[in-house]
Amino acid sequence: MVIVMKPGTSQEEIRKLSRQLEDQGMKVGVTNGVGCSILGLVGDTTHVDMDKLSINEHVERVMRVSEPYKRANRKFHPEDTVVTVGRAKIGGGSFGVIAGPCSVESKEQIIEVAEDVQRSGASMLRGGAFKPRTSPYSFQGMGVDGLELLLEAKKATGLPVVTEIMNPKYCELFEEKVDVVQIGARNMQNFDLLKEVGKMTKPVLLKRGLSSTYEEWIMSAEYIMSEGNENVILCERGIRTFETATRNTLDISAIPEVKRMSHLPVIVDPSHSGGYYWLVEPLALAAVAAGADGLIVEVHNDPACAKCDGQQSLTPKHFDKLMEKVRLLAQVAGKTVV
Ligand code: PEP
Ligand code: MN
Repeated sequence: MVIVMKPGTSQEEIRKLSRQLEDQGMKVGVTNGVGCSILGLVGDTTHVDMDKLSINEHVERVMRVSEPYKRANRKFHPEDTVVTVGRAKIGGGSFGVIAGPCSVESKEQIIEVAEDVQRSGASMLRGGAFKPRTSPYSFQGMGVDGLELLLEAKKATGLPVVTEIMNPKYCELFEEKVDVVQIGARNMQNFDLLKEVGKMTKPVLLKRGLSSTYEEWIMSAEYIMSEGNENVILCERGIRTFETATRNTLDISAIPEVKRMSHLPVIVDPSHSGGYYWLVEPLALAAVAAGADGLIVEVHNDPACAKCDGQQSLTPKHFDKLMEKVRLLAQVAGKTVV
């Protein structure tokens, strides 16, 4: 349920009404927007007396929200959420680019790539330390050592680091060492993991599951938000379709539609979407044009020798060219690359 307060209602009146509703067993979230405040009610609202609420002199409108997602729902929070990580910003007109290798491989590699992508205008560094591989015989990532190398790259460049968590037992370590916690496509519905990262204070980059609907994806964000962590970035990374020429199929419609359903920022991963380096640029530009709030792009200093996903990695030079086009197109789409 959503209660829109009349413009100019004092915070004292808002607190009074919130307390009344909390006494009835509801959880109340207040969003103070430009001009008016909105109260989002979560819990069993079936016994809330709509008529009684409507005659409150400070209440403009009361609406029942039929969608199962509440905190992530745009009706609860009409304005775009902006996720801020140091100097980087994603959402609400700020376009953020996260770039780096699929996996951290060595100190030299991660620092070299970090310096390159920073020069080209990336605002965050990606790099997997714990890798969700289809085969148990493939490179599984450097684990905890990889996190340390990401920190070295952060020290060298100042770029905040984004890396994937696969096991809730590492939440404390990630809280201490990482700037943005990535939930990979394969773990989008690992609800125990979602609940644990929901207790963290670090922003979460939530990738769309391989065959998940928009609602399922937003419900996973709701899991994280229901534990208190409201800084969630959604990431479209391509979905399973009947096409086999590309690794996945980038669902461009997800950008405008999910942004209509939710206030959370939506970014795009053109690397895992297409699966080949020659598809990265056109898919990235299509995402900018469709209104994405950012990109996460795989960049490797020697793609042919990469331990993971070299075929879809851009060279630093190619990434630099892509960034020039992204900046131009972002301007047309009304966004600024920060
Ligand atoms: C990744 O970003 O390295 C990754 C494994 O992505 P996804 O979870 O989207 O497959
Ligand atoms: Mn990868």
